[in-house]
Amino acid sequence: MTRHTFFTSLLMMWVPLVLQVGAVGGIGGSVKKSVFGKTADGTTVYLYTLRNSFGMEAQITNYGGILVRLLVPDKNGNFDDVVLGYDSLADYIKDNPYFGCIAGRYANRIAGGRFSLNGKEYTLARNNGPNHLHGGVKGFDKVVWNAKDTLGKNEPSLLLSYLSKEGEEGYPGNLRARVRYTLTDLKELQIEYEATTDSPTVVNLTHHSYFNLAGAGKGDILSHELTIYADKFTPVDSTLIPTGELRDVRRTPMDFRTPQTIGSRIDQDNEQLCFGHGYDHNFVLRAGGKNLTPAATVHEPGTGRFMEVSTTEPGLQLYSGNFLDGHNVGKGGKKYEHRYGFCLETQHFPDSPNHPSFPSTVLNPGATYRSLTMYRFSIR
Ligand code: BGC
Repeated sequence: MTRHTFFTSLLMMWVPLVLQVGAVGGIGGSVKKSVFGKTADGTTVYLYTLRNSFGMEAQITNYGGILVRLLVPDKNGNFDDVVLGYDSLADYIKDNPYFGCIAGRYANRIAGGRFSLNGKEYTLARNNGPNHLHGGVKGFDKVVWNAKDTLGKNEPSLLLSYLSKEGEEGYPGNLRARVRYTLTDLKELQIEYEATTDSPTVVNLTHHSYFNLAGAGKGDILSHELTIYADKFTPVDSTLIPTGELRDVRRTPMDFRTPQTIGSRIDQDNEQLCFGHGYDHNFVLRAGGKNLTPAATVHEPGTGRFMEVSTTEPGLQLYSGNFLDGHNVGKGGKKYEHRYGFCLETQHFPDSPNHPSFPSTVLNPGATYRSLTMYRFSIR
């Protein structure tokens, strides 16, 4: 055997071995766990780093189920963090405008913090003017979830679970909620939600990342090109509660049926934009929930990053970071100024418990609430 063929055959032996190691996690996906900090009552909170074979990374903490960091490549292969957030747990505990969290038990607003179910009235915390927002004073964004990381099919994932006791924030029923984050090799961040209850209640869970596809802290999101697969939206009153109408998007600044930059109409003289201080509206997705269907796409022309959102939910909240004003100093000391991030929150419609004509958010014992959302990244 010549030296050349000897080394070639050695190499041939190694290639499958290396690929095999990758398949069980060495080169492909991985999950790492580290301590993120402690809550006031001394509970240790962890940070889980999920990595896929493309080098994408999602860091998630079991405090609030918060996505702390999401590394995504641009058109030149450079990775950037595309979600707003903080470096430390202490910052999240101190002042978090819902960066990256799981919002619940009821994401978005319930009018007057009140609803009736089976003839009984329930009173919830009013933590947003006259209304209840994102589950109340201590919603799912501020609780410590149980966490279990796995590396199924070589795709790293994190399963979070939380028991929300009967009466918590005013809600009926002991609700067992489970949320699984998976970073797939199709360059998706997949979020699966499940919940069961022991007596009738309402539930509406979402993920609340503020995205900036140019990179967190690198400017506003006004030149991002957005498409939403919706012909209608739910107009709101001045406290951001839906009026009950499903209004046509045609000839309004809510028309994202073809790609439009978020900024092109945001400052128009329009009652809805005035109430929201920009976009803070729920879109009625054409697909109407049930099957996993594309809901929206976003393109950032400078970096080429492209994000597709698909969901089984009937609604999508577009929030254009209107209340950011520079006082939140985020990762790496970057200040998050007005409209430095946007949220695309897949959900049932806001205030559904008070609108019998909206798709129902009631969960009864014996039934399982299930919801699935994917944020998929590519280059255009
Ligand atoms: C709401 C906004 C709210 C924001 C909080 C969004 O889901 O629609 O009105 O200000 O969350 O960060």
